[in-house]
Amino acid sequence: MSLYYIDMISVIEAKKLIEENCEPSRIILTPLLEACGSILAESIFSPIDTPPFDQSAMDGFAFSFDGWNGKNELFVTEEIQAGSFSNNTLKPGHAVRIFTGAPVPKGADSVVMQEKVVINGQYISIDDQMLSKGANVRLSGSQTKKGAIVLEAGVLITPAAVSLIAGIGIADVNVFAKPKINIIVTGNELVKPGHPISEGQIYESNSYGLMAALSQLGIIPDSVVMVGDEEDETIDKIMSQLKCDILILTGGVSMGNYDFVTSALDKCGVTKVFHKVKQKPGKPLFFGKKGSTLVFGLPGNPAAVMTCFYEYIVPVISRFTRKKYYKSLQLTLAQSYGKKPGLTHFLKGKTNESYVTILPGQESYLMNSFAVADCVVELEEEKEHFNAGESVVAKMIVR
Ligand code: AMP
Ligand code: MG
Repeated sequence: MSLYYIDMISVIEAKKLIEENCEPSRIILTPLLEACGSILAESIFSPIDTPPFDQSAMDGFAFSFDGWNGKNELFVTEEIQAGSFSNNTLKPGHAVRIFTGAPVPKGADSVVMQEKVVINGQYISIDDQMLSKGANVRLSGSQTKKGAIVLEAGVLITPAAVSLIAGIGIADVNVFAKPKINIIVTGNELVKPGHPISEGQIYESNSYGLMAALSQLGIIPDSVVMVGDEEDETIDKIMSQLKCDILILTGGVSMGNYDFVTSALDKCGVTKVFHKVKQKPGKPLFFGKKGSTLVFGLPGNPAAVMTCFYEYIVPVISRFTRKKYYKSLQLTLAQSYGKKPGLTHFLKGKTNESYVTILPGQESYLMNSFAVADCVVELEEEKEHFNAGESVVAKMIVR
């Protein structure tokens, strides 16, 4: 192993340390619409039967099947619309005009659709060879029975699940909470897109990449702030942003004279868990903790920021939400690839069925390749030569 990397930990150790420092997930009662996309934390039991009554599935006529001999005309006594009901018990040989969703009255058990009926004043005759007892009636409780389990804890709340839950009259559900995330980007050189830049300045893109990636996970950061390369200002900003589950900083985490993030974090009482990982990009990655707040100091280069987010922060978000965001696949390397030993490489890749090509332009300041990549390929620390046809691990990026 190279001596140069002696003060760094491996990717595996870094991930283990992060996992050991994660807090247990929280459960939060959430309005149904906001809960869509979250994992249900407690099973849902139906407070009612649904349908709550025997319901017509058709616009037609309800009648007693046994009280009809197959040819006789039926006398139509009244009309029942969806939303209303009848207290009368239907007599054999009688029928009610009924509409979809309306309660089938006592005494009736079958509905004939209106297209299969000939109307003769107050009478109808049925022309439907296929009609059977119970036809076109949705029985009370045939979807959910009062007190029965409707959805088990641990399922994803899909839009259809939202509809099911709303349909049993429940407006709020317990889900695993999303983490509260704050972002601080550091650097004197940074200017927000949409403004002119002058000599020496660059556009601030890290918060954009992070916010876009978070938004794909259904998370909006509570706050995003910019700070210059000045220690006191960095301390102030960190102190004001520490009240969250995950604080993400970008830039200023290396060893340059103007890199104040690690010293400022220390002065804010953030305990370092590790600093520097044997990886490329993202070697200077910092991870620490204050109280229950997890603090990630990501190196400023945009490709390092995105890589560290996918590799280290997404798994932490998963611990909170209990959702799995990325598929990890074993793919076949389309070309041979060489690297120095000592660092795990995370490379922007493009898949084609079971093959993956490593894209050109892997330096940590370049986003061109990342922008069109669909996966991050992980090449292990010590290995130098990877042959075309070899199997490698690729994590698919949500797109
Ligand atoms: P640093 O980690 O602060 O030394 O920054 C490393 C590189 O990333 C430098 O070239 C910075 O200008 C650049 N950089 C830092 N922060 C950002 C940002 N928010 N957006 C775009 N580039 C950045
Ligand atoms: Mg900087």
